[in-house]
Amino acid sequence: MEEESNGEEYLFKIVLIGDSAVGKSNLLSRFARNEFDTNSKATIGVEFQTQIVEIEGKEVKAQIWDTAGQERFRAVTSAYYRGALGALVVYDISRKGTFDGIKRWIQELDTQNDSSLARMLVGNKCDLENIREVSTEEGKTLAEEEGMFFMETSALDSTNVQRAFEIVIREIYNNIS
Ligand code: GDP
Ligand code: MG
Repeated sequence: MEEESNGEEYLFKIVLIGDSAVGKSNLLSRFARNEFDTNSKATIGVEFQTQIVEIEGKEVKAQIWDTAGQERFRAVTSAYYRGALGALVVYDISRKGTFDGIKRWIQELDTQNDSSLARMLVGNKCDLENIREVSTEEGKTLAEEEGMFFMETSALDSTNVQRAFEIVIREIYNNIS
């Protein structure tokens, strides 16, 4: 086994997008720090968090960007998207309106970046089964139409959060290596 790094470094920028309050910030804090926050306070100051993941013995730095609440004003800037290699496009399975908004987010993503981006459609808050407004099938179908990965997650109880990020990171790795 090789112990020394061969000098290769991987830094993957991944962006989180989707309507306000779908759980983007909590998905990130669950993934990066294993934390959940019940208060919906705007993300202030933090542009991104870096998480190190090992793939095939190589150290990959996933730099995950979170909006600072600007999605409320539909004012996510092109700087936010610049250089992104992956994206998690998030809706809330308990609010149909956030699912209806997904197409607009995908469009914006596609105009800002080239099509080689690793994209995952994420139906968050799957712990809220009793008030679900978007079926798993609807999510799956849209993801297939758009050529995206799909996963239902819960930042609250941790379901699939790690997996969702790791699939995107792995896909980026496969795209470039
Ligand atoms: P953002 O605006 O997309 O960043 O959303 P936040 O991460 O701020 O979350 C909005 C609200 O939804 C907060 O009150 C969170 O506690 C709550 N929330 C986030 N993820 C989940 C989840 O997986 N399940 C449930 N039940 N609530 C969640
Ligand atoms: Mg947020």
